[in-house]
Amino acid sequence: MVNRGCTFEMPDGLLCQAPALRGKALCYWHEPDASDAAQEARRVGGHHRRKARSVATIYDFAGLRTVESAQRLLETAAIETLALENSIQRNRTLISAAAGAGKLIEAGDLADRLTAVEAAVGPKAHPEGDAAFPEEPAR
Ligand SMILES: [Zn+2]
Repeated sequence: MVNRGCTFEMPDGLLCQAPALRGKALCYWHEPDASDAAQEARRVGGHHRRKARSVATIYDFAGLRTVESAQRLLETAAIETLALENSIQRNRTLISAAAGAGKLIEAGDLADRLTAVEAAVGPKAHPEGDAAFPEEPAR
């Protein structure tokens, strides 16, 4: 049987279309029989998002999408670890942080160099007809 998706009409007039529950026309979030569990899941999810935002604000954590943000997290972890009592585990963690820092510095350096090379070469680095396969789309 094909699951045609949830038929609940959203406020914008479009259908929800999330996968419908087995044998039902509505999805987990819109099926009345599952509404208590769905409400509890929303409440717990909201609690986790608020907690994550609070912790991220306290530690000035902006995610791990850039080398800089990864370096900031690594520095915070290194500082927190340095403040602990000396132990083999603490020293292993600090050595691991130093190794990770080296990789991040290298990645940041390579990204900077690549940006400089792309700026020097220009946007048309792959001339037409240079494709290894004729059907290969030009980049
Ligand atoms: Zn739905």
